Amino acid sequence: MTTVPYKDTQLLINNEWCDAASGKTIVVINPATGQPIGKVAHAGIPDLDRALHAAQKGFDVWKKIPANERAGTLRKAAGLLRERAADIGRLLTQEQGKPFAEARGEVLAGADIIEWFADEGRRVYGRIVPSRNLAAQQLVLKEPLGPVAAFTPWNFPVNQIVRKLGAALASGCSFLVKAPEETPASPAALLQCFVDAGVPPGTVGLVFGDPAEISSHLIAHPIIRKVTFTGSTPVGKQLAALAGSHMKRATMELGGHAPVIVAEDADVALAVKAAGGAKFRNAGQVCISPTRFLVHNSIKDEFARLMVSHAESLKLGDGLTEGVTLGPLANARRLTAMAKVLDDARKTGATVATGGERVGTDGNFFAPTVLTNVSLDSDVFNNEPFGPVAAIRGFDTLEEAILEANRLPYGLAGYAFTRSIKNAHVLSHQMEVGMLWINQPAAPSPEMPFGGTKDSGYGSEGGPEAMEAYLITKAVSIMAV
Ligand code: NAD
Repeated sequence: MTTVPYKDTQLLINNEWCDAASGKTIVVINPATGQPIGKVAHAGIPDLDRALHAAQKGFDVWKKIPANERAGTLRKAAGLLRERAADIGRLLTQEQGKPFAEARGEVLAGADIIEWFADEGRRVYGRIVPSRNLAAQQLVLKEPLGPVAAFTPWNFPVNQIVRKLGAALASGCSFLVKAPEETPASPAALLQCFVDAGVPPGTVGLVFGDPAEISSHLIAHPIIRKVTFTGSTPVGKQLAALAGSHMKRATMELGGHAPVIVAEDADVALAVKAAGGAKFRNAGQVCISPTRFLVHNSIKDEFARLMVSHAESLKLGDGLTEGVTLGPLANARRLTAMAKVLDDARKTGATVATGGERVGTDGNFFAPTVLTNVSLDSDVFNNEPFGPVAAIRGFDTLEEAILEANRLPYGLAGYAFTRSIKNAHVLSHQMEVGMLWINQPAAPSPEMPFGGTKDSGYGSEGGPEAMEAYLITKAVSIMAV
């Protein structure tokens, strides 16, 4: 496959690409080779201040553009994203590692999300509320909240931005994002689509640098009115506390540890196909990845056998190579994390049914892994593994499986497989998750809410709820005099 030359990434301020004032940069590594492929500008406080003032200026202009015209610009940006999906997908694979088909699919899904929000922005309705005094008219107005500071991770470099950006822009907010330093070029290509679609200067901005320095500066700054973060629960708690101390509205899309309940009456082949596919997508580095497989004891061995064949059918390699279905882990930290997870699993008595090791020494390749007889005390059953590991345990009753599913402080995604409507209803009501998929793989769509509960965060990044996050509600009463 031809490789799009990987370009260095600059900061986007006022619709112009620029280096950091200090000239500082950070090296970008291709996770399939371990070799440097480019650099990204490292913003300092003076750059952030310029970006903040641009965001204020952008907001002052963008919020006054009628919603239908804003929708037109968003649709144009989505169209450009579609046209450029293959090129952006190749950049994404080079910096993040996922197979090209997944990378291109991510960009196309991004275009779909932007189009949905473009249309939803035209349906931000207020209300007229009957007044107790007939001489007065009571209005409920919805207005854009203001400039947004977003912090997004490296696992879906395009889509983690899109879910926030689409809703923010459609609501009339401006949007300044600190995107991941490890995967900067595909976010830059995404924002270029908005610049080319004609957003006024400052409506969108892109910075990179030291995450803690940037978040503490932006969140505390009076220009920023809304904070939105996707990443790990520990960092999310820090940023939520910071946002709280400055009374900033916040959306937190944090870690998960998705239980998969495979009931006695489940279609086992479907469960393996759906949850197995979802398990190894993006090498398991997905917040909604199925991670704790709870399988009825009567079908556990068959399930494990089919999951092992599924894992062994995957083709591991550089995501730009034709036919590869599993890429490297996105960074070297994940390799260390996987080694720790496997070491602990072995010590706590799990059987490594397949995989369990790093593959080769160049790049961050880790074999797709299936663990059986996993102990409840093991690391993999308690902390988000964020890697290509399927951990399987048996259960006897549905009640026991639901108790285990709800045991952890996480509450993001859940999955279940059953042919029984009764079981499906029980699971729908009793599983403590923000999203539940029954008899199917994860199928997040822009029109459905996307978010978690408990330590997985709060707020939603899909459906009308996602728009609410960027709006203020103003109650107005007008007395005729
Ligand atoms: P990490 O916790 O250091 O970072 C996670 C993300 O938060 C990164 O994008 C990072 O740039 C950002 N970040 C870190 N400190 C920050 C700060 N003070 N201010 C603003 N942003 C900050 O760890 P990591 O090694 O990059 O990822 C490991 C863990 O993060 C994974 O095990 C997984 O649990 C979680 N994670 C979750 C998602 C998700 O989609 N929810 C995505 C990526 C990583």
